[in-house]
Amino acid sequence: MSESTAPAAPSGRTLRVCALYPDLMNIYADRGNLIVLERRCAWRGIGFELSASSLGERLDSEGYDLFYIGGGQDRDQRLCAEDLLASKAEALRTAAARDAVILGVCGGYQLLGRSYTLGSERIEGVGLLDLETIREDGPRLIGNVAIEPAGLPGAPAGAVLAGFENHGGRTHLDSGQAPLGRVLRGLGNDGRGRFEGAVAGATIGTYLHGPLLPKNVWFADWLIARALGLDAQALPPLEDEIERQTHAAALRAAGV
Ligand code: GLN
Repeated sequence: MSESTAPAAPSGRTLRVCALYPDLMNIYADRGNLIVLERRCAWRGIGFELSASSLGERLDSEGYDLFYIGGGQDRDQRLCAEDLLASKAEALRTAAARDAVILGVCGGYQLLGRSYTLGSERIEGVGLLDLETIREDGPRLIGNVAIEPAGLPGAPAGAVLAGFENHGGRTHLDSGQAPLGRVLRGLGNDGRGRFEGAVAGATIGTYLHGPLLPKNVWFADWLIARALGLDAQALPPLEDEIERQTHAAALRAAGV
C-alpha cells in the first residue's frame, strides 16, 4: 500500500498571532486584518490566539506563528520605532530566521525596512527588509491599488491583491530586495507605479490597506497556511461568496 500524501488536517492546530502596537499602529481599520485571520481559522476548527505587544513590552520570539504590525501616523511611528529597536527588534529577527510570518502594512512595512527619513530626521527600522523610505516633496500617494504578487510560493495562479494606499513616504528597494508584486493599477512603493511591497521569505511588507485581508481572503489563507507550516491547499475551502464579491469590488475600484 502506498503511503498517504494527503496534507495534514489543520483542525486541532492553533495559530498564535502577536499584534505589535495594536493601540498605535492601526489606522484604516487594520484590525480587520486580525479579525479575518481569526474568523477563517475558527470556521476551519483551527484555534486562534491573539496577543499584543506594545510600548515597553518585551516580545517572545518563539511564542507566535505570525507577527502583525499595521499602519500609523508619522507621530505614532516615531514612538513605536524607538521601542521596536529597544525591546523587540532582536526577537523579530530571531522569529524571521525560524520562518515565522511577519506582516507589516504601510507604516509597519516602513518600519520593517532600514529607515524612514523625514527631512533631517532618520527613524531607524528593524532592517528585516532591504529597503529605505524617504518622505520626499510631493503629494501623498493615495488611491486604490491592484498588484500581481510574486514570491509567494503556492499562491493561487493568477491571484491579485487589491487594496488602498495612503502614504507620504516613498519606499526604495535595494537591488537584491524582491518586491511583493508588480503594480497593475496604483502608485506603489515609490509613486512610479512599478512595484509594490517587499517580501523576504515569510517577512512581507505592503502599502495595501483596505484593510488588506478582508479584500483578499486568498492571501489571509496563504498567511495562515504559511504560519502553520502547511501547504496553502491544505486548508479546506470556505463558502466565500461575500468575500469574492468584496475582492471583485476592490478590483473594480482599482480599475482592474
Ligand atoms: N506615516 C507613513 C507615511 O505617511 C505611513 C502611513 C500609513 O501607515 N498609512 O508614509
